[in-house]
Amino acid sequence: MISNTYSHIYLCEWCRISVNVRHQICSHHTQCSCCNLSIPTAVAAEEAHLPDPRCPHCQRTFCAFIRTPPDACRCRVSSCIASLEDFRTQTSLWHPPPLLGNTIESGFVRDYVEREGITVSDFLDTLFSRLDGLSRNLLNDGLISEVMADVLPDTRVCIPCRRECLSQLLLDWRVRLPPEEVRRLSPNRPNCYYGVHCRTQLSNLEHAKRFNHCCPQTKFN
Ligand SMILES: [Zn+2]
Ligand SMILES: [Zn+2]
Ligand SMILES: [Zn+2]
Ligand SMILES: [Zn+2]
Ligand SMILES: [Zn+2]
Repeated sequence: MISNTYSHIYLCEWCRISVNVRHQICSHHTQCSCCNLSIPTAVAAEEAHLPDPRCPHCQRTFCAFIRTPPDACRCRVSSCIASLEDFRTQTSLWHPPPLLGNTIESGFVRDYVEREGITVSDFLDTLFSRLDGLSRNLLNDGLISEVMADVLPDTRVCIPCRRECLSQLLLDWRVRLPPEEVRRLSPNRPNCYYGVHCRTQLSNLEHAKRFNHCCPQTKFN
């Protein structure tokens, strides 16, 4: 794949230009955010009729976007980019904890879904049905920080972005759950003042258990 002509010179496999990886790369090239390989910039890729190398959500560039599977990124993990839809065939929906990165809140949702006999696929359908409308403007309660309307279920994004999208979809679902369902999902706990933005929920299990974090931040110091 990669012609390593000199220790620090690569022949770009897409446009066959020598690319110096040790110094600032030329204006036609950027780096894969995963494996650091020099790859065409979005402009150069378009000129060469290659797919856009940028994650549509964070705009970081990944070589996997311009490769044709099974050709994969040098990380050799064929899943360094994936779609929300791909969760249907993967077992990783609940690991790492998808809702706010919070083990307790994620566990409540996972147990609720299992208890209610909802299949992961049906649950994903429910989450995806909200994807279109999920934007800062529609959710002006301060919970959603990113506009997600440009991400569809089959849009391939990088793995951190996919996790972030899933987290926001779960949060959106969770805060819209009717009160009687919330009572079935989790014990009644006081809201943490820092709500979704609380950092302690990630480091202190006791705190995560004692307080609800699926709520807006009400204290700002
Ligand atoms: Zn190139
Ligand atoms: Zn991304
Ligand atoms: Zn790569
Ligand atoms: Zn990779
Ligand atoms: Zn907290």
